[in-house]
Amino acid sequence: MIQKNNYRELKQRLDQKKVKLVAVSKTHPPEEIKALYDLGQRDFGENKAQELIDKQPRLPEDIRWHFIGHLQRNKVKYLAPFIHLIHSVDSIRLLREINKQARKQDRTNNCLLQVHIAEEASKHGFSCEEVKKTVEKGELKGFKNVRICGLMGMATLTEDIQKIRKEFRGLYTFFQELKRNGFNDNPDFRELSMGMTSDYKVALEAGTTIVRAGTLIFGPRKY
Ligand SMILES: *Cc1c(COP(=O)(O)O)cnc(C)c1O
Repeated sequence: MIQKNNYRELKQRLDQKKVKLVAVSKTHPPEEIKALYDLGQRDFGENKAQELIDKQPRLPEDIRWHFIGHLQRNKVKYLAPFIHLIHSVDSIRLLREINKQARKQDRTNNCLLQVHIAEEASKHGFSCEEVKKTVEKGELKGFKNVRICGLMGMATLTEDIQKIRKEFRGLYTFFQELKRNGFNDNPDFRELSMGMTSDYKVALEAGTTIVRAGTLIFGPRKY
């Protein structure tokens, strides 16, 4: 069930700060997504390629689909024709495949580099060092059909706000550093995707530009 009041409050709060909202619709059926669409929401996020491939044709064409989960290279070709932003680019091999499939579609695909900021080893992503080296070596310049729009990060799953704040602030600082040095000639590099239902307030304080919220908007997920 969509939580209309939660949605409206969140949307208003983010609009005031010019922060974008991605409604994370994973596990929720197309009817629920359509109900939120009818309230004006256009950006939706999914974390499983197959689920997104199934849902996309059943929903309005002007939805901007965000991919936020670990993406296998063999699935990229299915998303390349329509995806709006891939938040979870965690390797150069994946980026190369996205570039290849985007070129076939005569498109440029928007991507964020996922940076590993959490304590948990389970979370995917580059380390800050890896991103720095990749940028210094100019490795991203060869990908003409991808647009690197910024960074994405997930904080450790913990109740410890201080810890979450430290991780988000760290990523913000790194983002600013890259904007000045490495992406200084690239106005596309301007998005920072941090914060979900449990920690979006901390992310807002830390300077996020995109919040990805699911539970707050759609209620709990049933797996
Ligand atoms: C599921 C998911 C979210 C949203 O989580 P909620 O706690 O439901 O807001 C955000 N980001 C990613 C990467 C996710 O997989």
